[in-house]
Amino acid sequence: MNTNISTLAHGWLQVKVPLPFSLKWVNSYIIPEREGVTVIDPGLGTPEAKELWTDVLAETGLDWGDIKRIMITHQHPDHYGLAGYMQERSGAPVCITERSHAYAMRLWGEGSGFPKALRELYIHHGMPGEIMDRIERNLDGFIELVSPQPQVEYIAAGQRLVLGDWEWELIDAPGHAYGAVCFYQPDIRWMVCGDQVLPHITPNISVVPGEEKDPLEAFLGSLEQLKSYDVALALPGHRDPFTDFQGRIDELISHHVRRLDRMAELLKHESCTAFALCETLFGVRLRDNPHNLRFAMSETLAHLYYLEREGRIRSREVGAALVYETF
Ligand SMILES: [Zn+2]
Repeated sequence: MNTNISTLAHGWLQVKVPLPFSLKWVNSYIIPEREGVTVIDPGLGTPEAKELWTDVLAETGLDWGDIKRIMITHQHPDHYGLAGYMQERSGAPVCITERSHAYAMRLWGEGSGFPKALRELYIHHGMPGEIMDRIERNLDGFIELVSPQPQVEYIAAGQRLVLGDWEWELIDAPGHAYGAVCFYQPDIRWMVCGDQVLPHITPNISVVPGEEKDPLEAFLGSLEQLKSYDVALALPGHRDPFTDFQGRIDELISHHVRRLDRMAELLKHESCTAFALCETLFGVRLRDNPHNLRFAMSETLAHLYYLEREGRIRSREVGAALVYETF
């Protein structure tokens, strides 16, 4: 079988859909239904991903029309981007939360004000204009990778819905993406966790213009809640399914506690802008990788906002930029 397809228990298939970033692939899951299949997170709309799906369908003996439902864990382009294309071919409904969909429309809908809002945010936080230009060009490149936009049906956290042989609980999982949901099944103790809990990779926590101001607080709160679930197998959006769900959550929480402490310590020695701190933490080489620099910058902001809300640091305007400092 195609090396991108792995067979899981209960007839589920994991499909590694290629990505043109350092993440390498996003996981799609194919779930057998009484009639046809459900696909979770079809991937990003690249020519390589479309080609892969043609191969996957041929190898699994499925036609586009056998895809009866497309389920989206969250609105990030690497999960949602191919949904419209898959819907065009299959006629399947695309199911996503209202909040995730609103975010997708805000980013990639007609006349999106998002790039301008992001520019204002980053420049206020000390990023030079020419670096921001590169980020903006990189963002523009995503529009074709999420087109066409699908017609959607809303799902909601708290709801239960049938996937395959069981009923699943939809859990609100904010922080990495507001509007994201995890799917939990208590009999087999499986958790489809999107990007909320990933093995080996720390999920990106980003301040995004127009969203709530403290995504890290939301993320840590969500992790505490997810930790209470009894999980035998976690099915993540990247890398491979894994078993130690609670242990991985503990590692992620510790990572952020350490990062917060390090940033507070750095600011004790020298006041600086979020951009300067971002380069101290992640290195100036990210200037050559606008995609990763955007993640690093928004993640730095998420930690700074958290520290400021906790009263460990404060910010003040210096000229046109905002500078962070300790008391
Ligand atoms: Zn994501």
